[in-house]
Amino acid sequence: VLEKIIKAEKLETVSHLAASISHEVRNPLTITRGFVQLLSDEDTSKNSRERYIGIALEELDRATEIINDYLTFARPVLEKKEKINVLDEIVHTVKIIIPFANMNGVNVRFPLINNANIFVIGERKKFQQCLINILKNGVESMQKGGELEIDLTSLHPYIQINIRDEGKGMTQEQINRLGEPYFTTKEKGTGLGMMVSYSIIRGMEGEIDVESQEGKGTCFSIKLPIVHSQIG
Ligand code: ADP
Ligand code: MG
Repeated sequence: VLEKIIKAEKLETVSHLAASISHEVRNPLTITRGFVQLLSDEDTSKNSRERYIGIALEELDRATEIINDYLTFARPVLEKKEKINVLDEIVHTVKIIIPFANMNGVNVRFPLINNANIFVIGERKKFQQCLINILKNGVESMQKGGELEIDLTSLHPYIQINIRDEGKGMTQEQINRLGEPYFTTKEKGTGLGMMVSYSIIRGMEGEIDVESQEGKGTCFSIKLPIVHSQIG
């Protein structure tokens, strides 16, 4: 319970982060602009040109990463809350993540429950962003490939989405810091993905639990209140 309270407090700061995140995006753009300007100088040697292009591309990638983790789906613009078919959204996001998974030698397993229509309340794009951030972390945790499994458990009146990887897992210290803005263990991480996911699920009156073992893997469980379900 204490851990949950602490997490909730961390999330209080989320709304204040939008400004700092646009700053984070603006930074690499400013750097890129500077180097492109240097490139247009005829006196710049071929060696320097190559170096500047490398830096500019890296900075642009950085900006893209931040936008991918934070803004593409979870636009700060207010979307309307609606009834969301959980299975439809999972299928959609799994399709988005498969090429990235394959590229990393990861096989995505999604045993489909046929004809199960389970509805929750939320903003569709944000829910997709939340799933993508977690799926992406799962893929990235498996440097040597492996399996990423998504399944559903019904715990009426809740639906639980489990996203399980066979990756490197986390230490207790890392688990405690999950969702903290800018906490990352990756060389090019943004440390924004989990913060965004926690914030979205909290907005849907749900919960995210995590179980992780170093060297074995991690399972994220998203629990959401069902508003309507229909089987068959
Ligand atoms: P980023 O992916 O940019 O590092 P996130 O907020 O998405 O930022 O994740 C924060 C950190 O949480 C990661 O750097 C990683 O250390 C840890 N993490 C998240 N998901 C997993 C996972 N499935 N397996 C192992 N570590 C994870
Ligand atoms: Mg991430």
